[in-house]
Amino acid sequence: MRKKLVAGNWKMHGGIEQNNSLLNKVVAGTLGADKATYAVCVPYPYLSQVSSLLKDTHISWGAQNISQHVKGAFTGEVSAIMLNDFFCHYVIVGHSERRTLYGEDSKIVSHKFKAALENSLIPILCVGESLDQREAGLTEEIVGEQLDAVIELVGVEALEHAVLAYEPIWAIGTGRTATPQQAQDIHSFIRNRVASHNTQIATKIQILYGGSVKANNATELFVMPDIDGGLIGGASLLPDEFISICMAANN
Ligand code: PEP
Repeated sequence: MRKKLVAGNWKMHGGIEQNNSLLNKVVAGTLGADKATYAVCVPYPYLSQVSSLLKDTHISWGAQNISQHVKGAFTGEVSAIMLNDFFCHYVIVGHSERRTLYGEDSKIVSHKFKAALENSLIPILCVGESLDQREAGLTEEIVGEQLDAVIELVGVEALEHAVLAYEPIWAIGTGRTATPQQAQDIHSFIRNRVASHNTQIATKIQILYGGSVKANNATELFVMPDIDGGLIGGASLLPDEFISICMAANN
């Protein structure tokens, strides 16, 4: 049985006071809910605060991006090894906002994925299609290419230490969620694609759904057989919403 994971992606939101209050509520609100696991992926400047706040709790933390490089003249970048100083467990790679706003293609994303693994971080690899691509019937081709680029670089065995997240771009931050069946269809496609290389890894890997998950739709998504939790953007900033989503995974 795969344990579900609910990971918050705070994006470029937060503040010292706000983080403190949000995380204290989330820790208290999910206490004892140990059938699932929980994490928050926060902006770099708050990693120190978040690691102190969460270190003796059941909630893990991580970042939202890393450089594909180890170190050097890369102004503004943050390396995977730096995240180790803050005991990060996870790092998101290939979020669609990075792919579309910052030109990260599948090659760059796969090198980021590799950098994460080489530094004992669990990459949460985001894949997903735009609305135009879905309407043109290209969803599987796009998602397949994003996944294959990573498998080609690191080998399928590396996925044993990774999490996948299917995030249709048209559902992110739009309030328009994929239906549970639409999401399940692509999750199943992704799992089968991994299974074509290694069935054991395919059975074990967590595939999260992301895209306007809220308290009122989390349960119907999380009961689908290939949906192993969620990557939560906007709703992860609202303590009651996020706690309810975590509880929906705790079944
Ligand atoms: C995300 O940023 O990964 C995301 C899924 O955002 P939202 O939940 O706000 O759609």
